[in-house]
Amino acid sequence: MSDTKVYLLDGGTLVIDGFHAFWNRGPGGELRFPCYAVLIEHKDGRYMFDTGYDFDHCGGNKHLHEACTICHAKELEVSGNCQPFEHLGYSDLTFAPEIAKKKGVQLPPDPALDMYTPKFQTLTGDQEIAKGLWLFETPGHTAGHYSLMVEFAKRRPILFTADACYSKKNMDMMCISSFHLDPTASLNSMKRLKELAAKHDAELFYSHDPESFKTYQTGAAYYE
Ligand code: ZN
Repeated sequence: MSDTKVYLLDGGTLVIDGFHAFWNRGPGGELRFPCYAVLIEHKDGRYMFDTGYDFDHCGGNKHLHEACTICHAKELEVSGNCQPFEHLGYSDLTFAPEIAKKKGVQLPPDPALDMYTPKFQTLTGDQEIAKGLWLFETPGHTAGHYSLMVEFAKRRPILFTADACYSKKNMDMMCISSFHLDPTASLNSMKRLKELAAKHDAELFYSHDPESFKTYQTGAAYYE
């Protein structure tokens, strides 16, 4: 834990409607927000939390040929059998070509995919996957959503909300996004993140927050 370093890799931006970011609240209209991946250098190895596009958090998995994908058991199960309204969220199945095949989805030709045979390790419940790296269950956005807390030697822990809470404004308003499987679970997960941050004196880092993102260190700069 003592020499853990965290890098935020700027993944560009996405545009959605304001009503999608703030469910039933808005205001509507184009909302451009940032996306980023988290690279963790830990004494046990390198971890990626989120690998970026295509949509919008696992598109880079296919480039990590040697990696093991750690995810919630429910997430892997649902990705092959999602609700019709979740289609967009699970439209990029390049992280699991076998699931695409079972669903009859044709993946685009891609040399990266030719070399990619994913290995999965599924988890349930809260888990410390390496010393000071905590996955906390925050379902609702999806069935098996995890948020990640990283502990450091020199600073407060960072709790990456991931899509359990897009932005500080969502948290302040207690307003979930419109992309969700279960709105009540989503709201409970936001409350849980707030409680976890208080309990561990952790700083919340939001997944898609145009304002907060300006204050984050990205690129070669890191948190330690
Ligand atoms: Zn997202």
